[in-house]
Amino acid sequence: MTEILSATEAGLDRAAELLRACGLVAFPTETVYGLGADATDARAVARIFEAKGRPQFNPLIVHLPDFDAARGTAHFDDAAERLAGAFWPGALTLVLPLKPSAGIAPLTTADLPSVGLRVPDHPLARDLLRRTDRPVAAPSANPSGRISPTSAHHVLAGLNGRIDAVLDGGTCPVGLESTIVATGPTPTLLRPGGLPVEAIEACLGTRLAAPGPEITAPGQQASHYAPAAPLRLEATAAHPGETLLGFGPIAADLNLSPTGDLVEAAANLFHHLHALDARHQPIAVSPIPDHGLGRAINDRLRRAAAPRPR
Ligand code: AMP
Ligand code: MG
Repeated sequence: MTEILSATEAGLDRAAELLRACGLVAFPTETVYGLGADATDARAVARIFEAKGRPQFNPLIVHLPDFDAARGTAHFDDAAERLAGAFWPGALTLVLPLKPSAGIAPLTTADLPSVGLRVPDHPLARDLLRRTDRPVAAPSANPSGRISPTSAHHVLAGLNGRIDAVLDGGTCPVGLESTIVATGPTPTLLRPGGLPVEAIEACLGTRLAAPGPEITAPGQQASHYAPAAPLRLEATAAHPGETLLGFGPIAADLNLSPTGDLVEAAANLFHHLHALDARHQPIAVSPIPDHGLGRAINDRLRRAAAPRPR
């Protein structure tokens, strides 16, 4: 059952306790309700994809209580400093180079070297983030492909029984997702949203670029996530010279989940691919069931196995 938590000390404490223990908690922000999980815990993040029924691992926005916490998570260039100073807390997400020392799980960023960060402007969200004292990954709290929720009622209509709790903070004032900007050499608008583009351009004194094909949809390019080693899917055993990435009760060099648990497999996917890639041998991968989180795992494995451009 999904707990409905009130906007009280006790409700906030319970929400933070659940988040710190691998739980999924929907919480209000000024944009829409987010489905939160500890961004440093790959298992918790895997549960987000499971609850939403997302068929792909796309990068999630990491929510932080203030600018200082954000500085510990990513590298800010001058433009990012200026935008964060002007619009945080608020409906702006900045995509920035990730600091590996922040301990963000690779599943949170879809294994990208960048991270999307936001400091929300909602008293309950910021109080919850402070109490949780962890970076919180949160996409919108709706089943994949459905409309973003702007009330606890909407959240429950889509996810009741699939998440641990919802913190009821009434209606979201903005009601639109955040605007996403990547800075770097060419400040780029990745998604229009609740903060007007004109305000961002006025702050920077320059126009925002439209995303090029390589960043329109991170992770969509067929071989974007390819390890250096070739990958062979649906393998029942390793051929000589291959390492085996297993799933289920089989002997393997590394196993995504010996018990056949798809949440565990999703949480291990990027770590295990990196570890096997470091051995510089072709990788054979056991069949993964193509339902639930298995669809997102197979999507990512197919991209990794696709012929890659040179
Ligand atoms: P959602 O969580 O559904 O509001 O959407 C998150 C979106 O933020 C992703 O689909 C990306 O478009 C963008 N995003 C988050 N993190 C990154 C990142 N590290 N690099 C590029 N885009 C990102
Ligand atoms: Mg969404």
